[in-house]
Amino acid sequence: MTVCDRCGGDTEARPARVRWPVRLALWASTFALGWAWVAPRLNGLFEGVRSGWRPALPALLATAALGLAAFVSGFVRVRRPTCVACGETMPPWLFAPARPHTDAAHALAGAHGEAEGAAALAGTDRRGFLATAGAVGASGLATAVAGAGGVALRQHRWRDVGRDVFFAEVEKVAPEQRPEWAGSRVKAYRRLGRTEAMVSDISLGSGRIEDDRVALLALERGINYFDTAPDYSRNGSEILLGKAIREHGERDRMFLASKFCTADGHLPPDTPVPEIIRTVEESLGRLQTDRLDLVHIHSCDTVERLMAPNFHEAFDRLKEQGKVRFLGFSSHTPNLEAVADRALESGRFDVMMLAYHHGLFPGIPEIIDRAHRADVGVVAMKTLKGAKAENLPGLRDRSVAYSQAAFRWVLENPAVSCLVVSFFRPEQCDEYLYASGTKPDDADRALLERYDRLASADYCRPHCGACLDRCPNGLPIDTVLRYDMYFADYGRETAAREKYAKLGASRDASACLGCPAPCAGACPFELPIRAKMVRAHERLRA
Ligand code: SF4
Ligand code: SF4
Repeated sequence: MTVCDRCGGDTEARPARVRWPVRLALWASTFALGWAWVAPRLNGLFEGVRSGWRPALPALLATAALGLAAFVSGFVRVRRPTCVACGETMPPWLFAPARPHTDAAHALAGAHGEAEGAAALAGTDRRGFLATAGAVGASGLATAVAGAGGVALRQHRWRDVGRDVFFAEVEKVAPEQRPEWAGSRVKAYRRLGRTEAMVSDISLGSGRIEDDRVALLALERGINYFDTAPDYSRNGSEILLGKAIREHGERDRMFLASKFCTADGHLPPDTPVPEIIRTVEESLGRLQTDRLDLVHIHSCDTVERLMAPNFHEAFDRLKEQGKVRFLGFSSHTPNLEAVADRALESGRFDVMMLAYHHGLFPGIPEIIDRAHRADVGVVAMKTLKGAKAENLPGLRDRSVAYSQAAFRWVLENPAVSCLVVSFFRPEQCDEYLYASGTKPDDADRALLERYDRLASADYCRPHCGACLDRCPNGLPIDTVLRYDMYFADYGRETAAREKYAKLGASRDASACLGCPAPCAGACPFELPIRAKMVRAHERLRA
């Protein structure tokens, strides 16, 4: 017979329960294991770093087993040697005597004989079965709570972004179309540099257009500069504008700009000259016209692309044939200064198209001034600064339309010839054109400052590139994040995915999945680069 460790007295088997510090330690261990072992594996699955549940199973099962032990320890009763003299239960650090009122069955079994005791014990067994079933559920729940909590805390930097992206009530136009905007028309035309064309200060970009009535309405309201490209909606934009041109019947009133590219994307710089000419002729066919007023070398990220001899020879031949009139270039590159300098120095370009909006760094206005002095027309794009106003709840209760404030800011610069913005709904003619010919006031500036505060941690600035040399894999971080912006903010999901696919596995963000992120802290605007790249990869991979 076991003797008592404390007083040396005799012991007998009596009901005992697990002590509360032990139960507490079991629960604490469950959550600690969930945090330290399960959560990193779930987080890996969540971010796409790991694939499949199999690697996470040992951690999940071990944590669930510990959770089960913690739960069962709360109600289990066992018969343990207990000192008849001092009442100590063996071992004392683990067990304590069960309180009589919680152990009615065993009390009955001792005091009232076998039959009553057996009945009471049967009731206890049923309760025990139910409790065990509950224990299994509770242990699973504990594991899930610990794991999910760990994932949520590790992803806390996405909380604000996620709230705005997933829970915001998305606006496609201003929250409220004001009566005074109805029927707005273009009120100002500006000279497009040496082309001598007078173009509407607010002009139509057709990257998202799906209805030719929008283009017709824009024409009626006085817009005369139309920007398109073969890779907008896989030729769809040019086809639709062609229909509008035919219906409107006043081609001479329009200034039509397209790009050297195909439905599949920008032409590479070594494309043979006849092929470049053929793509422009195909654009003319879709646009139902005999000439382009302006053709851009699109997306000039390098001086080599800007000055690629084949583009220039193709342009000269097309110009001789009367099929194009002026040459321009567009650029999103961080290398803009070098590209713009070379473009101005070459004297080859009549127009430049670049991202320009409130809150940009000071180098851009200086480039615009230089272009203006060289009599090169300046077309501003990306004027809505990522178009996040639709997803920022903090801008909803505004008394000023964000779009109008942003346009006024851009047009306040007299060196800007016009801005191009995507029109895809008729009501945008009312809202956008209301800003034509007007200047920003204090309310506009306050709104733009608020936008900057709300959006700054989520917006990768065009022409920035301050982080690029911190990526050992040489990833085009700015390009990936721009495509993600097309997806999430512009609503151009298909086009964004197609562009992303063309980057290929060596340049897309798949390398970020297992990367220790030496790019961390490289963004002067405090963007969490790796997290944004991983999110972009998840959204953009087909
Ligand atoms: S996380 Fe991505 S962008 Fe950053 S250094 Fe690694 S591979 Fe480059
Ligand atoms: S992530 Fe930041 S540093 Fe990098 S290009 Fe974008 S804004 Fe510039």
